[in-house]
Amino acid sequence: MNINIITPADARYEEWNNRGANLRWKGHPSGIIPVSTTEELKEALQYTVDNDKRVVVRGGGHCLENFVVDPAVEIVIDISPMKGIRYDEEMNAIEVTAGSTVGEVLETLDRQWGILLPAGQHPAIGIGGHISGGAFGFLHRQHGLAADYLYAVEILWVNNKRQVEKVIATREENDPNRELWWAHTGGGTGNFGIVTRYWFRAAGVQERDPSLLLPKSPEILETMEMEWNWEQIDERIFKQLLDNFGEWSKTHSGADTEAANLFATLYLLNKVTGKIMLKAVLSDCSEEIAEEFAATISANLGITGRAIRKPMRWLEFALQPFPDIFVEQRAAFKVKDALLRTPYTPAQTGIIYRYLTTHNDVPGGAVGLATFGGKMNAVTTDATAFPQRDSIMATACNAGWIDPADEAKSLAWTRGVYQELFAETGGLPIPGGQAGGCLIAHPDADLADEQFNKSGVPWHVFYYQDNYKRLQRVKGKWDPLGIFRHALSVEGA
Ligand SMILES: Cc1cc2nc3c(=O)[nH]c(=O)nc-3n(C[C@H](O)[C@H](O)[C@H](O)COP(=O)(O)OP(=O)(O)OC[C@H]3O[C@@H](n4cnc5c(N)ncnc54)[C@H](O)[C@@H]3O)c2cc1C
Repeated sequence: MNINIITPADARYEEWNNRGANLRWKGHPSGIIPVSTTEELKEALQYTVDNDKRVVVRGGGHCLENFVVDPAVEIVIDISPMKGIRYDEEMNAIEVTAGSTVGEVLETLDRQWGILLPAGQHPAIGIGGHISGGAFGFLHRQHGLAADYLYAVEILWVNNKRQVEKVIATREENDPNRELWWAHTGGGTGNFGIVTRYWFRAAGVQERDPSLLLPKSPEILETMEMEWNWEQIDERIFKQLLDNFGEWSKTHSGADTEAANLFATLYLLNKVTGKIMLKAVLSDCSEEIAEEFAATISANLGITGRAIRKPMRWLEFALQPFPDIFVEQRAAFKVKDALLRTPYTPAQTGIIYRYLTTHNDVPGGAVGLATFGGKMNAVTTDATAFPQRDSIMATACNAGWIDPADEAKSLAWTRGVYQELFAETGGLPIPGGQAGGCLIAHPDADLADEQFNKSGVPWHVFYYQDNYKRLQRVKGKWDPLGIFRHALSVEGA
């Protein structure tokens, strides 16, 4: 055997077991198998199948739910040592080995070829688990999702005879495995096998020059940060600020909007933290659009916030975006996401105000609003497995805590504000009308739990809408034994 199984008796066990970003979960697998090559991975997977062990794979450890860190899991295969980013001439695409992180990918793409992948916002996210969730980021309005650039994927899967096999699936129309490629363009993680490599190339590009395969890195990148003191904010001002943000997002979310070069998030923090923050990224954005955005956001507030604009190199920003927000601080957290097709109503902004100003015993409770749309809305709902192509904003109700004693009230806060926000549709953002469902990259196991989902709408409708049946067929074919599963995994047809 070439693989190295780290058991609880091993001095390295705690370090390898403690790699999850969300401290809410604790797992105790009987073995952790770090692998650095596809051959080792194949052997590790075959070992778990032969020994009938419940297995999951871990990459960057950034899962929001307990898909990896789960007491039911017996073996964790850790692919984080499997690194590599290169131009593959045969595929005419950028090949990324699945253990690479978003930061490593962005760094190599920019330094070697001056290009980028519009991937997620945190540089430590693992590519293996990230891309197949769709992968949105700071530049998805300008360039679409990272999954929109997926040309091919290689996975290890387990056949009916319990044998591990390797397969490559591309987006070529005549590829017999095309459906498997499609399932990795937003069909979720940990569903169909273990991804070993992804290849990226923009659709329609034929040139055999790596610097032309993906979008160019921005020539000019600027951040815009605004901040308001909670002391100055009453309910009228708060609601006006959310209206302003919603109005701008609605007006500038079309697939052909000229303002796609501007992405912003409004961080509505609990009143006890003292401030509300807005963070925007302007990539090759005109001064006119930047000024119109700042003016719209500030309109009729009647107070002056702090506003700072800072030019940066793209890579410098991507590797350390907004350090005050994205600091790698390990905590327990719960996130409940929703996509919005129209802005929050005054009644809904009133609910957020109430939760942020009266529940001061949950200082880690926050609501976020991010601009969506733009280029990501230029794709049809079934061209990829990611169907949410008509939203104007994403919203997240979340709470973070360090002391386990704060868990119950933090969860209650997060579930409470979310439930009230979507009370008119059974407490959940049922797709259609105001809401556009949820993002599988930010999974919320509550959706599959009858205690929290009383809407009568199954969990998969929120994530996959009409694409679910197609995903089930892919699952039936490529994971016939149901080896790869978790709280929100696709059920085989
Ligand atoms: C701080 C933070 C910021 C984030 N920001 C963004 C963002 O901006 N945009 C966005 O789209 N998402 C974002 N996410 C969510 C992130 O994309 C997902 O959690 C993603 O699944 C993480 O992948 P990972 O490899 O780091 O995580 P892991 O915890 O290692 O794995 C997550 C899931 O993917 C599976 N998986 C991992 N590797 C593979 C593989 N090689 N093959 C098959 N399955 C695999 C795991 O089994 C598990 O089900 C963020 C998460 C965090 C915690």
